[in-house]
Amino acid sequence: MGLNCHDTAEIYLRNVFVPEENLIGTENAGFYQLMRFFNESRVGVASIQLGMAIGAYERALEYAKQRTAFGKPLIEHQAIQFKLADMWKDIEAARLLTYKAAWLIDSGKPNPALSSAAKLFASETAIKATYEAVQIFGGYGYSKEYDIERYYRDARVGTIYEGTSEIQRLIIARVIAGKIRF
Ligand SMILES: Cc1cc2nc3c(=O)[nH]c(=O)nc-3n(C[C@H](O)[C@H](O)[C@H](O)COP(=O)(O)OP(=O)(O)OC[C@H]3O[C@@H](n4cnc5c(N)ncnc54)[C@H](O)[C@@H]3O)c2cc1C
Repeated sequence: MGLNCHDTAEIYLRNVFVPEENLIGTENAGFYQLMRFFNESRVGVASIQLGMAIGAYERALEYAKQRTAFGKPLIEHQAIQFKLADMWKDIEAARLLTYKAAWLIDSGKPNPALSSAAKLFASETAIKATYEAVQIFGGYGYSKEYDIERYYRDARVGTIYEGTSEIQRLIIARVIAGKIRF
């Protein structure tokens, strides 16, 4: 559907022997090591999604200033102003969550709930922002003449990979219930 510059394929590993010198981390602790890795990688995905939301917002804002419909620029129609205001508001909130989660990692105190919240919120923001950007571009939003349709397709995977939005909510719920300690 999207991310066409990035090859995706399934890999099966069967009867693989890993020599001791190639072992990463501690034997039989891979699951927990991977979960710690997700604390960081999810903030990376949040950043990618935030960038897509900003890109779609900036393009939609410029287009809304240039395109005239019913005698005035799109940006002077209140329905369009509300879309842009919501995009801006969600982007600022996603930015703060992402920066806070990243700052905690840099400070040596990663917080799984915040990493999940940043990934969840930024990816849902990217989907909403790219959806509304397509709407603001109208027919051109659906056409390949502008790159806004690509933003829309590329953003969609954000709530799926690196753990779905449902799984991010489960992690947040487990942290606030005291079931995950870190
Ligand atoms: C472009 C792309 C790149 C990817 N890259 C990688 C990669 O590099 N490495 C890698 O390992 N994987 C990768 N994936 C796989 C990705 O992480 C999984 O697709 C994703 O985690 C969802 O798993 P699934 O597809 O098996 O869906 P399923 O687990 O079958 O889930 C289907 C639906 O059910 C929901 N669901 C499942 N379990 C629960 C539950 N307990 N409670 C509530 N809802 C639930 C899910 O949220 C989802 O909505 C990639 C996927 C894509 C599309």
